[in-house]
Amino acid sequence: MRANAPSAADIRQFDNRNHVHPWHPVGMEDANFMIATEGDGIHLFDTEGRKYIDGPAGMWSTQIGYGRREMADAIAEQVMKLPFATPWTSTTGPAAVLASKLAAHSPGDLNRVFFTTGGSTAVDSALRFVHFYNNMLGRHEKKGIIAREKGYHGSTYLAASVSGKARDKSFLDTDEINVHFIGDPNPYGRPDGMSTSDWCDRLIDELAQTIATVGAGRIAAFIAEPVLASGGVIVPPDGYHRRCLEICRQHDILYISDEVVTAFGRMGEMFASETVFGITPDIITCAKGITSGYVPLGAVLISDRLMDEMRALSQDEYIMFTNGFTYSGHPVACAAALKNIEIMEREDMFAHVRQITPYFQQRLRDLARHPIVGDARGMGLLGCIEGRAPSESTEEARLAVDLEFGMRLDKKCEARGLLVRPIINMAVFSPPLIIQQDDIDRMFDIMDVALAEVSEEML
Ligand code: PLP
Repeated sequence: MRANAPSAADIRQFDNRNHVHPWHPVGMEDANFMIATEGDGIHLFDTEGRKYIDGPAGMWSTQIGYGRREMADAIAEQVMKLPFATPWTSTTGPAAVLASKLAAHSPGDLNRVFFTTGGSTAVDSALRFVHFYNNMLGRHEKKGIIAREKGYHGSTYLAASVSGKARDKSFLDTDEINVHFIGDPNPYGRPDGMSTSDWCDRLIDELAQTIATVGAGRIAAFIAEPVLASGGVIVPPDGYHRRCLEICRQHDILYISDEVVTAFGRMGEMFASETVFGITPDIITCAKGITSGYVPLGAVLISDRLMDEMRALSQDEYIMFTNGFTYSGHPVACAAALKNIEIMEREDMFAHVRQITPYFQQRLRDLARHPIVGDARGMGLLGCIEGRAPSESTEEARLAVDLEFGMRLDKKCEARGLLVRPIINMAVFSPPLIIQQDDIDRMFDIMDVALAEVSEEML
């Protein structure tokens, strides 16, 4: 340890006393979080010297894994050359080149890129852009947003307003006037005996009904994650996104595809909207994997059509999109993103994801044989185990599984060297894209043992 470096005990004390974490019980001072010290490949290490497979890849973010010297060099080089330049009146090579690179990989005509500081600010900027667009068209009433229950789009006011995880909002205010929720598209939640295609019809009807009730003249956009990530890795039925987009087009409603989790290889493609789900949205939001989490960055990809339409309307006058951040297009973050993408391309990482995904998904689905597993689902390198006590269990056991399954599974996995992310009755994971078959085996072997123990204890 370096002289003067804080001890693990000091870090623990400062953190418990002074550091307010996201999604943290107010005033709690004995959280005793794991103190992460180092990362290498798919592994994290803590102050006790323990080694963990990083199941969630940070927060769905560390695509290329930890400890990449090239990333450190690219970041350091940019810091020494130019750590900052105002995006209001100047540009930098990294920002301009990254914008063109994203445009080259984006679906359709999504060629205009607005940089932000992360996913929430990307979603917030996309929603403000949609308001701006309709104001320019003189459609001042067309401001509503349709979003889905269990969606998660971020923590700024607007992004939180379109997020549909009910328990996240209990003590926070959101815009309840302009946001309209429809049900989540989880086939696992469909009524007994209903086919998946009937379930899809029902979801599409609900969207159409919502538009009819609110009035298309009052709805600006529909926002959807291709796969609802934090809501529990909810993969919609086939054709769902395509049919939602068709309805949006019929009613002149813009489609925002929130790819904060699904972009940058998680589904084996740079962006999932078109290549995986067959849709070309009007706007894509992304973040996280854009830099593999090495530094913060987000982006909004906007269709040329919308920009050109507005340009034509503003004629000789320049009307400003008065939204932006000091750190929009931050040169260090953009240099990191360029290096990250270069590494992904050089190592053909997306092909690797496509090749390894069937094995990952098969090992995941095998876990469904545990009596405590209600559903084991996923897509690409995204997975979720949802706990549910069998119907013959006592009321008490059912309640306990519903509230504690995720946390209990997380603890058992952590003790064996695997991190997963507990979400109430679920545990989700999305390992770094560089994961190999033997690591996948280690991950699922640990989950297997952990699930057997949790079943034993809870049922
Ligand atoms: N959108 C989606 C789909 C997300 O999963 C998240 C975060 O998990 C966000 C937006 C918000 O991103 P950030 O936490 O970088 O602000």
